[in-house]
Amino acid sequence: MSQLNPTKALNGARTGHICDRCNKCVQTGELVRVYATYYDREGWMLRRVWCEECGESTLEGGTDGADEAIVEAVFWDHRLVSINVIDRCR
Ligand SMILES: [Zn+2]
Repeated sequence: MSQLNPTKALNGARTGHICDRCNKCVQTGELVRVYATYYDREGWMLRRVWCEECGESTLEGGTDGADEAIVEAVFWDHRLVSINVIDRCR
């Protein structure tokens, strides 16, 4: 199922531009890291956004059996593009 693939599902997703850790404003063209979860009911949802310096690269713990992923993406006019999965667990 294509929607289970976070690379496709999150491509073009709208996102905030403030790092959840240091409150830096991310500019268009900069890399961000995003933590996202997948639940059958709602699909892939962005949970956290970090600037390049703050971004986590590994998942910690679990979220009730949800599929989870950390992805790196280019922030482009409040959307995510050029997504790469950094870590993923189900
Ligand atoms: Zn930051």
